[in-house]
Amino acid sequence: MQLGDLELHLMMSGRWKADGGLMFGVVPKVLWQKQKPADENNMIECACVCLIARINGRVIVCETGIGTKLSEKRAQQVALREPEGLLHSLQRLGIRPDEVDVVITTHLHWDHAGGLTRRDEHGGLELTFKNARHFIQRTEWDFALHPDVRSQSGYVHDDFTPLDDGNKLVEFLDGDAEVMPGVQIRHVGGHTPGSQVLVLRSGELACAVTGDLVPQAPHLKVPWNMAADLEPLRVFEQKARLFEEAEKHRWLLVLSHEPEQPAGYLEEGGRWTPEPGLA
Ligand SMILES: [Zn+2]
Repeated sequence: MQLGDLELHLMMSGRWKADGGLMFGVVPKVLWQKQKPADENNMIECACVCLIARINGRVIVCETGIGTKLSEKRAQQVALREPEGLLHSLQRLGIRPDEVDVVITTHLHWDHAGGLTRRDEHGGLELTFKNARHFIQRTEWDFALHPDVRSQSGYVHDDFTPLDDGNKLVEFLDGDAEVMPGVQIRHVGGHTPGSQVLVLRSGELACAVTGDLVPQAPHLKVPWNMAADLEPLRVFEQKARLFEEAEKHRWLLVLSHEPEQPAGYLEEGGRWTPEPGLA
């Protein structure tokens, strides 16, 4: 899809299942299951949605999904399918991982940052995108290294610590930043301390990758949020702000875990119109 100067490719970097209660927190199941039917284990279908963008000749990867390092047991627990999705998509576009210029994950949870690293042929860890600049909020990095007792299972050190190897591939941000012309990062917090939203712009046109601020289409309702959110009230505040802008300026929104038609527009009154040009 072309958005002004921006070339956008929306990809599934994996499919999996998450517990419905984790996805919808205090929202009653009788309400969410009409939109997201749960299986016999109360799990619902999820995707890891990622975006590959070309802007001014640069290649940007936003979100890297679960990746390929999960143990067989863990992969089975979350019904992981197609974990190679991102690398296969890049291959189809004729882009080698070492040609990626910028990598941005909205936060460092395992299902967003897992694809930052992979196993080499000897079983060691290696960076997936060896030449890319990786932009991460400093608050997210610090928290991921020392999470609270509830957040410990959400972070896997092998996903991100290899980035900090002295090669200056990771650049820490303290809040909002324009990391390249047309590539803006907004610190939103809420879900995790350093959660960020990526906004790609071409003139008046924009596309926002929402991360777990808006994981699936039912979360387009401001008070529908995930149980994992550290600061729900901040999530509501930041969502309302994003939606106001997205509706007013017709931003394309990309929802991080929506398996069906994960990109679209918010119309007047909050009606969601999926973008059919994107799978
Ligand atoms: Zn998360």
